[in-house]
Amino acid sequence: MSDFTRRTFLAASAAGATAFAAAAKPALLGGPKVRTQAWPKWPVFDKLEETKLLDTLRGGQWFRGSGKVVSGFESAYASLTGAKACLATANGTSALLTSLNAMGVGAGDEVIVPPYTFVATVNVVLAVNAVPVFVDTDIETFQIDPKKIEAAITDRTAAILPVHLGGSAADMDAILAIARKRKIPVLEDACQAHLGEWKNRKLGTWGEAGCFSFQASKNLNSGEGGAIVTNDEDFAEKCYAFHNNSRGRRNTGYDFSYVARGLNLRMTEFQATLLLAQMTRLEEQSTRRDQNGAYLTSLLKEIPGIRPARMYDGCTRNAYHLYMFRYDKEQFAGLPRAKFLQAMNAEGIPSSGGYSPLNKEPFLKNTLESKAYQKIYSKGYIAKWQERNQCPMNDRLCEEAVWFTQNMLIGGRSDMEQIAEAVRKIQAHAAELARA
Ligand SMILES: *Cc1c(COP(=O)(O)O)cnc(C)c1O
Repeated sequence: MSDFTRRTFLAASAAGATAFAAAAKPALLGGPKVRTQAWPKWPVFDKLEETKLLDTLRGGQWFRGSGKVVSGFESAYASLTGAKACLATANGTSALLTSLNAMGVGAGDEVIVPPYTFVATVNVVLAVNAVPVFVDTDIETFQIDPKKIEAAITDRTAAILPVHLGGSAADMDAILAIARKRKIPVLEDACQAHLGEWKNRKLGTWGEAGCFSFQASKNLNSGEGGAIVTNDEDFAEKCYAFHNNSRGRRNTGYDFSYVARGLNLRMTEFQATLLLAQMTRLEEQSTRRDQNGAYLTSLLKEIPGIRPARMYDGCTRNAYHLYMFRYDKEQFAGLPRAKFLQAMNAEGIPSSGGYSPLNKEPFLKNTLESKAYQKIYSKGYIAKWQERNQCPMNDRLCEEAVWFTQNMLIGGRSDMEQIAEAVRKIQAHAAELARA
């Protein structure tokens, strides 16, 4: 046994039962799995969802204009987040799209975005014919690097769109300070951050508006769904008209008069019915994720080469939509991340490598070079865009990241111990795995 392996082995022994697993052959090489039980299922539901969905079905009011469930959900979600107003939408993408329109962001504008995010954050910027300007990632926190935002601001910057990636908070103090100084509105993409907090106030309530997603994978789930929260009631009314095909709250029934440009991005009564039922479990599940996430960090940070995503001091509650860490293969006998992920999955611990560099996606360049964009932006401007959007730290993060999904954090503490045990086991056998 090499010194290094011995140390790892001793660390594993300290955890008692894990000694055996560390000594056992990795599952990828035919050994026993660390975990054979199923992970907590997602979605979670019971009779409550069944009863309520049937009530809505039988009530025959399936549309927000005639029913009362969507508006009931909006009140409940506003009070849950502490925001003055909430507008439910068809999904998170339409919440973001509606907000950008209500903010007046459009052709000729730039929007500051992180490259480490789900593609929807950027798709909505393109949908309003604006240009996404990527600001590199803070590799320790996986969030937009606030120190690099100001240098990316130009006369065209119409909004800053930070994402609370994984449910952890972007550095809101720093972002809001820049936004105030430069008089640029902030739209928070809180699509992964339900009940997450910055300085004990809910994420999504710090900027002009905050957007949430209730897509099936998200911590609050109605299959598809979204919401905008804001403390500006005029802004909420603008959003309402946009998402309601140009019709304000008073333009109902056969009143065919219109407030402003819009689309139909409304939530259905069925979605809201599911959300109200799912919300009865949200606080408890979030507490569990928060506790398990913190416990998992305490275990993983002791393992050489594993660096859990750091939280900014202001992040008082992490929603843990994702559990994220960086993997340093040098501490694993050079075992490539792809092989590490394979080995983890073989041990019964579902693990993925997360996002690829969004700023380098060919579809972005193609969009910027499209006919429509060439009518709005000069050739020179478009040619420069790529140079402005280099994100070297993000490139590195995309090669080192490892993710677990939120459902893995809603079980017991022993689940976290098994995750750590699998990592230690792989480390103890890293050289062997690297050769295989
Ligand atoms: C899920 C998600 C969205 C989009 O939400 P949908 O409901 O899928 O449209 C936007 N941004 C981020 C960061 C997300 O994770």
